[in-house]
Amino acid sequence: MYLKSIEVQGFKSFANKILFEFHNGITGIVGPNGSGKSNVGDAVRWVLGEQSAKSLRGASMQDVIFSGTENRKPMGFASVSITMDNSDHKLPIEFDEVTVTRRVYRSGESEYRINGSACRLKDINELFYDTGIGKEGYSIIGQGQIDKILSGKPEERRELFDEAVGIVKFKRRKAAAQKKLEDERQNLVRVNDILSELT
Ligand code: ATP
Repeated sequence: MYLKSIEVQGFKSFANKILFEFHNGITGIVGPNGSGKSNVGDAVRWVLGEQSAKSLRGASMQDVIFSGTENRKPMGFASVSITMDNSDHKLPIEFDEVTVTRRVYRSGESEYRINGSACRLKDINELFYDTGIGKEGYSIIGQGQIDKILSGKPEERRELFDEAVGIVKFKRRKAAAQKKLEDERQNLVRVNDILSELT
């Protein structure tokens, strides 16, 4: 599995539709200060479901939408798609190529898609669990992040190792099952209360 391409439109400094294609080997993105290099990494984090405007270096989520320049009007939406080669089926989905898309409008409406079909953020999170690619993954190391990891709390560092050894999906499923169990326990208490009122 590898990242084949990123398509951005209306995202941060990228007003026009731009396609970044990645081939075998190492790709470097170079450019003057402020030309948008870090915005490419932000685009990948955003499409994978980043919900924190601060970690995308903005004040609100609408800040990811191209805000216009002297010569160009602001855009009404931002859209990012990433396409992964999945011929080794590391992503648990039958397709050999997987495109994940996120789009947000100025009105606040937003949508996620997997291979063109509308989906929930949860579906995208689950698709990337334990691959190191999800928004909690370690495939994008931002400036200062190494320091943050080294000086972070042991529990935070543990999360990184959990992702690397591939147990995040089991931990999430365990938490969901425990919540269901607790809900059922509460229901049982209620049933018992009603029963004791009736008898
Ligand atoms: P450096 O080398 O200094 O780290 P960089 O090439 O990584 O810079 P970025 O930080 O990716 O550059 O891009 C910053 C640019 O993106 C700024 O010029 C900023 O005005 C522009 N930008 C950010 N958000 C938006 C937006 N919503 N609309 C238009 N431009 C934006």
